[in-house]
Amino acid sequence: MNTLTIDDVDLKGKRVLVRVDFNVPMTGDGTISDDKRIVESLPTIRKILDSGGRPILMSHLGRPKGQPDPEFSLKPVAEYLGILLNVPVNFAGDCIGKTARQMAAEVRPGEVLMLENVRFHVEEEQNEMEFARELASLGDVYVNDAFGSAHRAHASTEGVARLLKPSVAGYLMKKEIDYLSKAVGNPKRPFVTILGGAKISGKIDVIQNLLPKVDVLVIGGGMAFTFFEAQGMEIGDSLVEREKIGVAKEILDMVKSRRLRLILPVDCVIADKLDNDAQRRIVPVSKIPSGWRALDIGPETVKLINLAMRNAKTIVWNGPMGVFEMSNFAAGTMEVARLLSQATKSGAVTIVGGGDSAAAVAQGGFDGSISHVSTGGGAALEFLEGKTLPGLAALDSKP
Ligand code: AMP
Repeated sequence: MNTLTIDDVDLKGKRVLVRVDFNVPMTGDGTISDDKRIVESLPTIRKILDSGGRPILMSHLGRPKGQPDPEFSLKPVAEYLGILLNVPVNFAGDCIGKTARQMAAEVRPGEVLMLENVRFHVEEEQNEMEFARELASLGDVYVNDAFGSAHRAHASTEGVARLLKPSVAGYLMKKEIDYLSKAVGNPKRPFVTILGGAKISGKIDVIQNLLPKVDVLVIGGGMAFTFFEAQGMEIGDSLVEREKIGVAKEILDMVKSRRLRLILPVDCVIADKLDNDAQRRIVPVSKIPSGWRALDIGPETVKLINLAMRNAKTIVWNGPMGVFEMSNFAAGTMEVARLLSQATKSGAVTIVGGGDSAAAVAQGGFDGSISHVSTGGGAALEFLEGKTLPGLAALDSKP
């Protein structure tokens, strides 16, 4: 990574304004149901504390529509962080204004200040300059550790980075970028990419960016059926994006003209309706009766994916293989998660690009046995598309 990190700046005595991504799932009573993003930010916060710096943390949580909403308060997160860090975490009820300024000025070494949700101000998502300036005034150094929000040019991710110098990356940001850029830029081969999810429209840019780089491309999930439709196959009531059939054809042509392997499902689990209790059957993809729809990949496809992964040295996975939210159509996705964990043990570098696939990995208990599970679904996807992440681009580069 060509960006300066917290290792490159003097933090001693400094008020260090850190953009973290504490947008964590919570139950109605304020209980955090998945703390991965908080846990992953601890090395950065600890580094600041250990260097004698004074961390001032800011984040968004949910979509509060630009105004205060107790449902999206970061207070429970601040309390939870205090328990994890075992240091006092004070909480400012607003991210700007007199109280925030006063509390930021008074943070003592060994303590942390957490600001209230930056999205309680409509100016955050508008990346409004005056709002960014107010945030910037709270710190002497800016650290962006919010990889999950790096694809957004918001005030706390991009505006502040331009106003408050030095502006550097935290350890989580560095880890995410290092894994993803190595996989995409300089992968150990064979390089296998597995894509799934509902629609090809959301993954076209990833496919086009990765096609010249991968050795094997696996396409599963609902998006595979637009490819089958493009090949003139009968797909029953399976998901299809008619307006993307042309793009699917182009991708199939591109695959033919390059020396890479494309694996599409050979069999699938079909159902007579989109319901966990629907009637189910496993059929070859060429035998989907009308009135039935494919909701998961079948066991023969899993075998093919297993074979493709056997010698792989780099594997990137993004998107479920079926409607994994319904237990009767989750097997294919869970099998891919298991195969990835197995491949990691055999020496492959495995990367899960956040979102649904990360949820499946967590559900299967495979988090610990994957090289890197990204904390940012949208950000990881945009990185894989080859796009510049504004929150990263605004940070200081190495000389
Ligand atoms: P995406 O946001 O495009 O990655 O899509 C994720 C969604 O795709 C999940 O909610 C899955 O339930 C859904 N999905 C995966 N496979 C299928 C399928 N065969 N038919 C319908 N939906 C699917």
